[in-house]
Amino acid sequence: MAVLEQQTDGHREWVYAARVKGRFQKIHRWSGWILMAFLVGVPWIHIHGRPLLRFDLPGRRLYALGATFTPQDAIYIVLLLLFAAFGLFFFTSLYGRIWCGYACPQTVFLEEIIRPLERWIQGDRGRRMALDRKKFSGEWWAKKLASWALYAVVAVAVSLAFLGFFEDPRLLWTGRASRGAYAVAAFFAFAWFWDFAWFREQFCNYLCPYARFQGALTDDQSLNVMYRVRLAEPRGTKKERKAHPDQDFGLCIDCKKCVTVCPAGIDIRDGFQLECIACGRCVDACEGVAARMNLPEPLIGYTSLAAESGRKKRFLRPRTLVYGTILSVLVVAFVALMGSRHDLAVTLNRVPGTLYQVDDDGMIRNTYFLEVTNNHGAGDGEPATVEVEVVGLDGAEVVAPPIEVAPTRSVKVPVAIRVPADAVHSRTIPFELEVRTDFDRVSVPGTFKTGLEEVN
Ligand code: SF4
Ligand code: SF4
Repeated sequence: MAVLEQQTDGHREWVYAARVKGRFQKIHRWSGWILMAFLVGVPWIHIHGRPLLRFDLPGRRLYALGATFTPQDAIYIVLLLLFAAFGLFFFTSLYGRIWCGYACPQTVFLEEIIRPLERWIQGDRGRRMALDRKKFSGEWWAKKLASWALYAVVAVAVSLAFLGFFEDPRLLWTGRASRGAYAVAAFFAFAWFWDFAWFREQFCNYLCPYARFQGALTDDQSLNVMYRVRLAEPRGTKKERKAHPDQDFGLCIDCKKCVTVCPAGIDIRDGFQLECIACGRCVDACEGVAARMNLPEPLIGYTSLAAESGRKKRFLRPRTLVYGTILSVLVVAFVALMGSRHDLAVTLNRVPGTLYQVDDDGMIRNTYFLEVTNNHGAGDGEPATVEVEVVGLDGAEVVAPPIEVAPTRSVKVPVAIRVPADAVHSRTIPFELEVRTDFDRVSVPGTFKTGLEEVN
């Protein structure tokens, strides 16, 4: 808890993370740039004229993978959110904070863009520390202002890229989006800038809820970054080893490379700490030291408490079984529902306060509101012509205005169903209203009230 101890006295220790190279940093680089390409690229991709993924909040629509979801499709959104939550639980129980280390936007932007920019302008760890010792000097101002200017550019780009999942990026990036959209973009750009320029690892330590509850999702079989105490301790520098030749030392030469590269500002050798984001920088650092010093193996690695205490690695455990089963059920439910999903969403509701009426020509009339949502095609496509027909009511006729629904829009119209009095034989008759367009056909159930006693 080194960071927390440093910070509870009200004074923040700035973290000057040193540069490190290694296999986990390569993985980080690849995963980071793939995720950033996803963030920037996906809002520009369209399938069948619809965005690959966009939350149209004013239009209350979600476009995903070529389909359009409306509020009537809330079940799909709920299933997706549950899938995301249990997916995170499942992977956390197996691989610990792998999300934090390799996929969290905070980590990705900081490690792949902001720190490289910082190093480019202010130099590596030693130079940055020296620069901050000359606080408010001309050189300090010049380098800090240059860094902040670049962070601001990145913050604006990041916030516009995020907003591309809510607003058409062709409008956003050309200044043609709404003022509201730019107000939101400005707010997030400021928040990102503040994070890049100052807040940084404190976000993980104090604001991120996932960091708080991930301890409850892991067990002694979960993968974590750990210091191999049995191999490494008692640690000792070369000097200490020379000074105490009779003492038994462990393999750790106390070079502190693992500490200087840590972006969370902690010493992993103090044991498991909530601040650790499992980024593997200390693992790469110690692997480098182990290679140079011919140590039999690195003293820090991705491992589990069970493996460290010589117990067998178990993939199947109560929590992985529970999370895995829930995930499987969610996937099956989602696929089944998607398989039976229609491009037309239809609801039929009786006009409130009405049951039936008898027209002058003796026909019995029931009136309804029919709402048709067209989830087929893009927003600027041709409207669909809707036809309706009653099935299951002998002699029924439908009285409705012409119905046309533009893609991604809904239309609500009054619809009357008339049935000859001599064709009805019970007080309430169930029927199906078939709603057709040239691309889909949907049936919704309804009931027809006859008031039979009064009629006969
Ligand atoms: S990098 Fe390895 S050898 Fe150096 S202090 Fe850390 S654990 Fe010890
Ligand atoms: S202790 Fe190691 S894995 Fe944890 S945040 Fe620091 S460098 Fe990353």
